[in-house]
Amino acid sequence: MINLEKRPRIAVHKFSSCDGCQLAFLNLGGDLLELTKRVEIMHFLEAGLDDPEAKVDIAFVEGSLSTQDEIERIHKVRESSRYMITIGACATAGGLQALRNLDNQHEQWRDAIYAKPEFIKTLNHARPIADEVRVDFELWGCPINSRQLLAAVNSLLFGVPPIDDRDKVCLECKRQQRVCVMVTEDKPCLGPVTRTGCGALCPSFGRDCYGCYGPADNPNTASLSGRFAGLGLLPGAIARRFLLINSAAPAFHDAGLIARSSDTGGESHD
Ligand code: SF4
Ligand code: SF4
Ligand code: SF4
Repeated sequence: MINLEKRPRIAVHKFSSCDGCQLAFLNLGGDLLELTKRVEIMHFLEAGLDDPEAKVDIAFVEGSLSTQDEIERIHKVRESSRYMITIGACATAGGLQALRNLDNQHEQWRDAIYAKPEFIKTLNHARPIADEVRVDFELWGCPINSRQLLAAVNSLLFGVPPIDDRDKVCLECKRQQRVCVMVTEDKPCLGPVTRTGCGALCPSFGRDCYGCYGPADNPNTASLSGRFAGLGLLPGAIARRFLLINSAAPAFHDAGLIARSSDTGGESHD
């Protein structure tokens, strides 16, 4: 555990990502100022602090491993940190950029998107951080929730392991007494198989969960796929529900490929 006799040092490292999960830190606002009384932030480029090689007690890592340089860099970050927490879908499951893992079309897509593809040095696959180095705790979501982030840091500062909440979004949805959008509006909600942590954000606003927190514990994706088919979704649409932000998380990946394997390419309702 972390030595509390000295002010613990933390760092926030960016890999392939959109920076949205780092914003969850900045969105802490006054709580972040309070936190800086108890921790020393050594490296956090988005907040203007630049010391990537500093030895720290906790390293937060945002982003997937998408380049050879990142694979080399993550080992350095691991060596210089006692505790590593990955933050966000990119870091925990490869993120949206892992869609390129599905079809081995990395080079075609790169050439179609970039005006000068010869300057783009990316790998064929985007991978989660835990594929390469030991990760002590994962915070899922796209983006992560600032409240969860603060709770995890506070747990570590109090010398206890952070709570790993793997329940399904549905449980939180029911605790908040939200009306189920799948039952009442036939919306294809991924809440029954998605890990909670967001406070059932989307159903709270009358929309279906699209799985940004990744798979919950024991997700029954086969049953939910059957339910989606009952709502009128064709296999291609069901596959796209699973193969989105967390397409490389095994439970969603497998469910998406199973649906896709029976896709005959017909028009479908998303
Ligand atoms: S998980 Fe989402 S919000 Fe976070 S860095 Fe990746 S794309 Fe951005
Ligand atoms: S709206 Fe979605 S998350 Fe909420 S109970 Fe219904 S299926 Fe579950
Ligand atoms: S309800 Fe689903 S998609 Fe919406 S924020 Fe929560 S986990 Fe993400």
